Amino acid sequence: MPLTPADLTDALRTVLDPDIRKDLVTLGMVKETKVEGDRAKVTVELTTPACPMKDKIRGDIEAAIKAKATERGAPYSGVDVTFTADVRRANDKTRDGANPLPGVRQVIAVGAGKGGVGKSTVSVNLAVALARMGAKVGLLDGDIYGPSAPTMLGLEDEATQARGNMLLPFEVHGIKAMTIGKLVDADKPLIWRGPMAHGAFKQLATQTEWGELDYMIVDLPPGTGDVPLTLSQLLPLSGAVIVCTPQIVAQDDARRAAKMFEQLGVPVIGVVENMSYFVDDTGKEHDLFGRGGAEIMAQTMGLNFLGSIAIRTALRVNSDRGTPLANWNDARLGQEFDTVARNIASRVSMLSMLGQFVQPTISVH
Ligand code: ADP
Repeated sequence: MPLTPADLTDALRTVLDPDIRKDLVTLGMVKETKVEGDRAKVTVELTTPACPMKDKIRGDIEAAIKAKATERGAPYSGVDVTFTADVRRANDKTRDGANPLPGVRQVIAVGAGKGGVGKSTVSVNLAVALARMGAKVGLLDGDIYGPSAPTMLGLEDEATQARGNMLLPFEVHGIKAMTIGKLVDADKPLIWRGPMAHGAFKQLATQTEWGELDYMIVDLPPGTGDVPLTLSQLLPLSGAVIVCTPQIVAQDDARRAAKMFEQLGVPVIGVVENMSYFVDDTGKEHDLFGRGGAEIMAQTMGLNFLGSIAIRTALRVNSDRGTPLANWNDARLGQEFDTVARNIASRVSMLSMLGQFVQPTISVH
């Protein structure tokens, strides 16, 4: 007797999601089970197109169905596994009431203790990496004091467009983006008093026609100022990523940033170590700043380490030219951003699935 779709479902009950440790059927991830002759066909819906566990899940499915076929004595030549993805929606509630961006599924803030550590570089390339993997991504350049998106995304010659009182995001490199840098004079200093900073950020976030997005990446200003507070009140945040360089002085500030997010009730997704080491043009690696410092800091604070990005001339050049997709011409550089993106996406999925979103509540100690 050939296998039946019910046999396949039975087999899939033994396959666990590697992160959540529950089976695929219980998690509602199995969308189709079919048997055609001696071949099985299974469609599994993941919680992110950037799932780092695809190969592991595929292997476990193959093993489970093979075991079922052996148990049944059924003719069986293998399984075709198709993966689809549906990014889960984070908690919709915000501290200030209704969610102003109901079309956005996950909002991920990228912060840093100090300027110049590569927070904008990581934000831009995280957004592009997720988009390359098939997600719908928006980048909100929330660094209203020193917006980098106009340069890093090459928006200099793009005209700002509006429909009614809504701004249309720039659609470049596979992502949607908005930045204050395209709304104000590039040479004027951006001086905002607290309430103005709040208003400017709020308008950028809510008066842009983002449409449906799987992920919105928010590039925050460095440090612990008004914008993270506004953001945590305004939008349902999935969590915050902290970018840090390996030096002790950078770690101290990153620790403060992590504590700030904790105080705002925003889960810290983890730490990215940027400028981890220098790779010269011959591919030789040089340890400049104490490679691994941010990873050790993450460990001591009980935070996840999300990956490291080396210092590479190509990354700086592509950022200055506004051509982030060119970073994937260098396989190792592209891979570093892909790893960070997968780790973040998987962590955020896990937080949604486990329903561990914490409502932002402010407690000042
Ligand atoms: P931040 O947003 O933290 O102020 P940026 O992302 O603007 O920092 O980066 C500061 C500068 O360092 C930019 O010129 C950027 O291109 C460069 N940079 C950042 N990370 C790297 C890296 N890993 N390799 C080479 N250059 C980098």
